[in-house]
Amino acid sequence: MEERKSPVGTILLCVALAAMLVLCGALMPRMQSAKQLLDIEKNATPTPTADNRNMLAITPHPNATPAPTVLILKVGVEGDQVKRLQERLKHLGYYTGEVDGQFGQGTAQSVMMFQAQHGIAADGLAGEETRTLLYSDAAQVFVPTPVPTATPSVLSMGDDHDGVRAAQQRLKDLGYLEGSVDGDFGAGTKAAVMWFQRQNGLSEDGVIGGNTMALLYSEDAPMAIATPTPDPNAAPILVNKTHPVDASYKPGDLVNMRDFMPSDLIYVKGSECEGDRTAATALINLLKAAKADGITGWQLNAGYRSVRYQQTLMNNKIDEYLSRNPSWSRSKAQSAASKTVADPGTSEHHTGLAFDVTARGADAFIGTEQQKWLNENCWDYGFIIRYQEDKEDITGFIAECWHIRYVGTAHSIPMRDNNLCLEEYLGEMD
Ligand SMILES: [Zn+2]
Repeated sequence: MEERKSPVGTILLCVALAAMLVLCGALMPRMQSAKQLLDIEKNATPTPTADNRNMLAITPHPNATPAPTVLILKVGVEGDQVKRLQERLKHLGYYTGEVDGQFGQGTAQSVMMFQAQHGIAADGLAGEETRTLLYSDAAQVFVPTPVPTATPSVLSMGDDHDGVRAAQQRLKDLGYLEGSVDGDFGAGTKAAVMWFQRQNGLSEDGVIGGNTMALLYSEDAPMAIATPTPDPNAAPILVNKTHPVDASYKPGDLVNMRDFMPSDLIYVKGSECEGDRTAATALINLLKAAKADGITGWQLNAGYRSVRYQQTLMNNKIDEYLSRNPSWSRSKAQSAASKTVADPGTSEHHTGLAFDVTARGADAFIGTEQQKWLNENCWDYGFIIRYQEDKEDITGFIAECWHIRYVGTAHSIPMRDNNLCLEEYLGEMD
């Protein structure tokens, strides 16, 4: 983080001003009007210095004002300081573009590469910390990550060896992988690869083949650019079997549901259950309305799930099938598990906007007074019954009367009125 402004500059400025006022006071005792004071302040405006190293060579004049706070150089900034930055980055091998004094994406990428190699937050902003290091003797020349020699030509999900480990490390250095570097190509690694491919215009299959491998290990491999968190009130995000979320998707503001939800409205199963704040607030409003209609006894069974957790659920299901059917192959167990557990990345629960609600103590939710009320009224509070019986062919999921998804009333009401599932509503029918 380099956005904080150093208070030192402000303090020095105040000290200089005070000293000047004292001096002026001594020379011109009668100078007291506010206008004259203002003139003094105007004259005290610091003159920008192109290079603060030069400051050391300047003998300060008694009335000299301190150098201005060093600006953060970032995309859009122009001038000599940028030129000097580019020169230095070029000298060290990070920058291959033109030294033109214009801080563009190429300069930002070079700054990120420099930051990543030096173990500081790779944000592409050349602030005080980055520049101090860059201009110091500790600045290292650019070292491209070598392609591991024993790497097979293609890496894909299920692989487990040092080649995977190297690819994971590279994805992590570039900011695409958040999980651990464990040599095991799982859902998290696949999501990171898909993010890398999508951002860089490669075909998005989650497999590290020739093109992906070549770019990943090249000097030009770009750092990850995180996409902003979607606004739940904007067009609803579609997550299904053909529209999985990847590691770049971050639910906005997650809250702990047991802490957040009033306990007289709903019992939250699991002390670690989380949900999106906006969706959870809408759920409170829904439950208050239900209570006003005399419908209580709700239970929250599930909210946000990470891709990693979904992978655990999937693995457990596969193990369960294998232990019940010892003759089955792993791939047979895997395809059986896929029918009841959403593949990692394809669950709406990754968004934090979906909740599984049931009636406390009931064996089944369907047919309960809570289920009937929810089916009829959830729309008015921004929720939809996401998986309905007459839409199974489109959603790809069998009906789940307990799974509600927050989309906001701007969308839920027209979806109800026109009997559209989310795929139909968004015109995403592939
Ligand atoms: Zn669900």
